[in-house]
Amino acid sequence: MKKSLELFQQIVHNLLEDETKNPVAEFVPSGELFERMDLDLEEHPISEEDLATILQDLVFKAPRTATNAFFNQLFGGRNDKAILGDLLSVMLNNSMYTYKAAGPMIGVEKAVLRKVCDIIGWDENAGGTFASGGSMTNFMGMLMARDSKQNEARYEGVKNNLTVYTSAESHYSTPKNAAFSGIGRNQVRSIAVDEVGRMDVDALEAAIVQDINEGYVPTLVNATAGTTVLGAFDNVDAIAGICHTYNIWFHVDGAYCGSVIFSKKYTHLLKGLEKVDSFSLNAHKMMGTPLTCSLLMVKDKKYLYDSFSNDASYLYQTDHDDFNLGKTSLQCGRRNDALKFWTLWKSVGTQGLEGMVNKQFELADVARDYVRNHEDYEDFSIDDSISVCFNYKGIPARDLCTLLYEHSQLLVGYGSFGDREFVRLVTINVNNDKDVILNFFATLERFVEENEALFLKNRVSV
Ligand SMILES: *Cc1c(COP(=O)(O)O)cnc(C)c1O
Repeated sequence: MKKSLELFQQIVHNLLEDETKNPVAEFVPSGELFERMDLDLEEHPISEEDLATILQDLVFKAPRTATNAFFNQLFGGRNDKAILGDLLSVMLNNSMYTYKAAGPMIGVEKAVLRKVCDIIGWDENAGGTFASGGSMTNFMGMLMARDSKQNEARYEGVKNNLTVYTSAESHYSTPKNAAFSGIGRNQVRSIAVDEVGRMDVDALEAAIVQDINEGYVPTLVNATAGTTVLGAFDNVDAIAGICHTYNIWFHVDGAYCGSVIFSKKYTHLLKGLEKVDSFSLNAHKMMGTPLTCSLLMVKDKKYLYDSFSNDASYLYQTDHDDFNLGKTSLQCGRRNDALKFWTLWKSVGTQGLEGMVNKQFELADVARDYVRNHEDYEDFSIDDSISVCFNYKGIPARDLCTLLYEHSQLLVGYGSFGDREFVRLVTINVNNDKDVILNFFATLERFVEENEALFLKNRVSV
C-alpha cells in the first residue's frame, strides 16, 4: 500500500507541475487511441515500473478539468479540502447503507443534509439523501411524485395517465426518467420558455388544464435552477402557486445552480424554494467537489421512506432506522459522497461557500462585460447566470470550439437557444480570477488570427 501511495503522490506531483505549463492535454483522436496508448489487458502481470509509466501516460493524456483553460463542462477546478475528504472516503471504503457499516460517516451525511434543509427553511420533517448524480436525484424526485399520486403504482405498476411538465430548456434526464419510472416519455409535456430561457408559467398552467380536461393526472412539475445552456432560473415562486392549486408534486432541478442557496446575494434567484416538495443540487458543479456529489432534499421525508424503503410503510420505522440510510436510498451499496462536501464546508464555513458562489457570478460579469464591450462578439447571455454565451466574428461556434480543442488551446463547449448556436463559457471554476477570463478571450482571438487558413479550410469566412 505504501508503495502505491508513493506512486500516487509522484504522479500527482508530476501532473500538477505539467498542468501549469500545459493546461490542455495533448489531443488524441479517438480513432488513434488504441494505437497510441497501451490499454490492452494481458494474461501476465507487468513490472511495477511499466505500470507506473503507463499510469502516468494515461493521467497526462486525460482531459485536464482543473486548469485555467477548461470551460467545457458545468464543473471545473480543484478544491483541495474536498479532495482530501474524497481520498479519505476511498481509503475507508465505507458503504453508506447502515450505521453498522459506516458509523460516524452516517452523521456526516445527515449533518450536510440537515444544514441544507435549514438553509431552505424546512423543519425536522424534512430529509434527504445522496445519489450518484443529478439525473438520479431528479429520478428520485419523479418516483416520489408518482407514488404520491398513485400509491398503488409501487405494487401494481403505473396506470398510464400520469403527466409530467418541464421546460423545453430543461435537462434531458426528465424524459429519460419518465421512461424509467413507467410514466413514459410521451407523457412529458415540454413547456415553452420566455426570451430569457425561463419556463412560461401561463403556458404551464394551460397545459395542465388541458391535460386534466382530457383525463390525465398531472403528477410532477420539474423546474430548473440554472438551465444547461443559458443558466436560467425558472420562477419557482409562481410555479409553486400553480402546483398548489392543482395539487401537483413540485421538484426543482438545481443540479447546475441550486447552490445559489448558499449565497445571501443570489439566493433570491430561488425565491419560494421553501414551498417545493423536493430539490436537488450537485455540489460537484458550483461547489467544486469531485464527481459525483448529488444531494436530494425532500420537504416531507415520509415520501422518501414510502418510495425507497422496502418495508411496507414509513410507520414501521424504528428510531434506529434514522441512522440506516439504506432505507431511503436508490442504491444498496453506496459511496460516501458526503465526506468531501462536509470536509470543504467544515473548513471554509457557510461563508466560504457563499464566497464561491459569488465569485462565479463575478467572473461571469467580467466575461459578459468583455463580450458586450467588444464589437467582434455577438452576445447571447442573460444576466444573473454563470454561463456566458457568444459568437466571435461570425464563426460557427462548433467549428471554433472543435478547433480550439484539437489544437490544445482551450476546452470550451457550445450550445443553442432558439435557432442560434453559440459558444458557452462557464465561469464555475473558483480557482480562476479575472485575468484568466480575460486571457481566455485573448487566447481565442490570437488563435483565430493565427489560423485563418484553418477556418478557411472549414469553409468559414473570418
Ligand atoms: C448536470 C445537470 C443534471 C445532471 O446531473 P448529473 O450529475 O450529470 O447526472 C441535471 N440537470 C441539470 C440542470 C444539470 O445541469
